[in-house]
Amino acid sequence: MNVYDSSRMADVLAPHGYGMVESPDGADMVILNTCHIREKAAEKVYSELGRLRLRKQAREAIGEKMIIAVAGCVAQAEGEEIIRRADCVDMVFGPQTYHRLPEMIERANRAVGAKVVDTDFPAEDKFDFLPDHAVNPGVTAFLSVQEGCDKFCSFCVVPYTRGAEQSRPVAAIEAEAMRLVEAGAREITLLGQNVNAYHGVGPGGDEWGLGRLIERLAARGVQRIRYTTSHPRDMDDALIAAHRDVPQLMPYLHLPVQSGSDRILTMMNRKHDSDDYRRIVERIRDARPDIALSSDFIVGFPGETDRDFADTLRLISDIGFAQAYSFKYSPRPGTPAAAEDGHVPETVKEDRLATLQQLLRAQQSSFNEAFRGARMSVLFDRPGRRPGQLAGRTGYLQAVHAAAPTRLIGAVVDCDIVDIRPTSMEGVVDTDWQDQDGPDQDNLETRTHTERAIA
Ligand code: SAH
Ligand code: SF4
Repeated sequence: MNVYDSSRMADVLAPHGYGMVESPDGADMVILNTCHIREKAAEKVYSELGRLRLRKQAREAIGEKMIIAVAGCVAQAEGEEIIRRADCVDMVFGPQTYHRLPEMIERANRAVGAKVVDTDFPAEDKFDFLPDHAVNPGVTAFLSVQEGCDKFCSFCVVPYTRGAEQSRPVAAIEAEAMRLVEAGAREITLLGQNVNAYHGVGPGGDEWGLGRLIERLAARGVQRIRYTTSHPRDMDDALIAAHRDVPQLMPYLHLPVQSGSDRILTMMNRKHDSDDYRRIVERIRDARPDIALSSDFIVGFPGETDRDFADTLRLISDIGFAQAYSFKYSPRPGTPAAAEDGHVPETVKEDRLATLQQLLRAQQSSFNEAFRGARMSVLFDRPGRRPGQLAGRTGYLQAVHAAAPTRLIGAVVDCDIVDIRPTSMEGVVDTDWQDQDGPDQDNLETRTHTERAIA
């Protein structure tokens, strides 16, 4: 979501003469769009600010200005404290106020040493004030449909930094999706901290869930649809049915479970137990047998015993994941779990994480190995590493490299998978495709945001 938010900030700033650049050197403004989810991410902000302070001083020495801004969830959580710890910072603003950026910049420029802090949860909806996309989206695009979370898992800062759950109206999402498609997007990933809790107002004033929204976007011509991140409790019947009925919805689902121990899941306030998760997965697999699953895991939650951890390993073995993210528990200020007793020693967390990741890696490689020699649909979205190559992704988000002409960027192409490496696959483009025209290239954008800004 920070990638999406950053591109929307660029959209807001484009009419004011700002464009993105490759490096902070020589920049008039640097915005750090930050993440507060784990301590490590939050701490990175301060080391980065230390480096930026030197750049700002160097610029000031030659009579030039550099505005330093901290945006995102660290800004939301720490507010003015950031300026106290790093006085080179001119602006601090949260994820809900970036539509006010031009006004904030004006205030920061008004006086030497002026500081601007805006961590409101404003009554107005930022989306109503954001301009249309000024920066081209590329072949694969993100689209925020929902923000915030009301679940209050005991380890998580999201409900405090992103605020209460909010869904955008269907019409606004549809209009944004159509603009993305017109600009060349072939795949759209619908985003939300708790995306499947989506309940936006439909065109007729009734409430729509995510399943219905996905059906609509598929009918409007979005070629590939994904969504992330979901909570197991919000996998409702209509969404599961969409996995069965909507071919444009990719057969890949990121469904975080966090732990396989019911005792820990209760302490996490997850509102589901491990058997609920198993049952939900079963229903999804009934609807879409070829679906691949991904998940998030936290090891070393306060009070986690060896037996709890063994339950997590058992759940992983039972389900079988194509991919997963796993983290050591990180105490976050203001969350209930941080105040709990029984914090697990760092060395134990490290051991458990290594064991867990070994199992997940083995599952991932056997998932990928199963496609050796198979024919897969690949959406090429950028030039590959070597000349004459393109890179793209399968429906399961596996990275594929193949020799292919540039005109196939933006096309979903059949490829034979001839080699499987740890982080990508090698494909050979089906001969039929070698002779076909690719999609209309006129409106296709395959460079990164930064490359475009520099051009
Ligand atoms: N809404 C999603 C998760 C959003 S946060 C869900 O309900 O699952 C992304 C991931 O960060 C979480 O799934 C969790 O695994 C991890 N995470 C969140 N808070 C954490 C913490 N305090 N310590 C370690 N990992 C954390
Ligand atoms: Fe955080 Fe996800 Fe739980 Fe919400 S549902 S509190 S975002 S982990």
